[in-house]
Amino acid sequence: MLNGKVALVTGAGRGIGREIAITLAKRGAFVIVNYNGSKERAQETVEEIKKAGGEAVPYGCNVADFTACGEMITALVKEYGHIDILVNNAGITKDNLLMKMSEEDFDSVIDVNLKGCFNTMRHLSRQLLKQKGGKIINISSVTGVMGNPGQANYCASKAGIIGLTKSAARELGSRQITVNAVAPGFIETEMTKDLSDAIRENMKEQILLKRTGTAKEVADVVAFLASEAANYITGQVISVDGGMAV
Ligand code: NAP
Repeated sequence: MLNGKVALVTGAGRGIGREIAITLAKRGAFVIVNYNGSKERAQETVEEIKKAGGEAVPYGCNVADFTACGEMITALVKEYGHIDILVNNAGITKDNLLMKMSEEDFDSVIDVNLKGCFNTMRHLSRQLLKQKGGKIINISSVTGVMGNPGQANYCASKAGIIGLTKSAARELGSRQITVNAVAPGFIETEMTKDLSDAIRENMKEQILLKRTGTAKEVADVVAFLASEAANYITGQVISVDGGMAV
């Protein structure tokens, strides 16, 4: 159980982030539901958690903004005294073939997906070292391991998350702070809803379980990594992809 723990989940207004926030709250954590553009969706996540008897608050912050992330962490530690679980889930896609990809689309995906993880971890790590404990879970992707045509920016950001995760695990391990990555496969959310039938069928062919995954299936693994049951797991990349990257 996660009773007494404070969890910050980035990009928790919808999709996988929302499911992670709800799952952590159901297990007893007080959850900070971070959002950037969608305040109303974040509020919906909070309401759903409260309806189920959990506790949560929304908090707006663009994770790509280094200074704003610092202010968010400072404000949350001041308000709640500690942060025990950080889930870096916020992510975007701006797909295009490499030869057509603009510099802006490359940079913005790296800024949100990869630098966003750095920004929160950078500002929270001093506090976690003081606490002598904590759990960081970064949401990477199967595409960070395998690559994907049309997603050079996204795949680079998700592969970068793996290096960031392993380095932080090495730096923070001696204080009982674990840092792991979860690499989802093809999960049904708004991010994947516009993919063509042809791409869907092609991807399903590569999945050993021959079906797409759910946000709940990712959230359950994140909740496990956030729990005491995972105290001896760090620096790992856990695939939740139906066997896509085998
Ligand atoms: P989604 O439905 O598009 O949700 C993305 C979330 O990220 C939204 O809540 C969005 O909030 C937030 N976000 C975007 N930019 C942000 C920023 N600058 N600051 C703070 N929050 C920001 O996507 P999803 O499918 O749930 O994906 C969640 C994570 O899983 C992402 O990191 C994604 O790369 C990863 N993933 C997804 C799949 C999949 O198949 N769906 C597979 C592998 C990995 P706002 O609307 O408030 O900006």
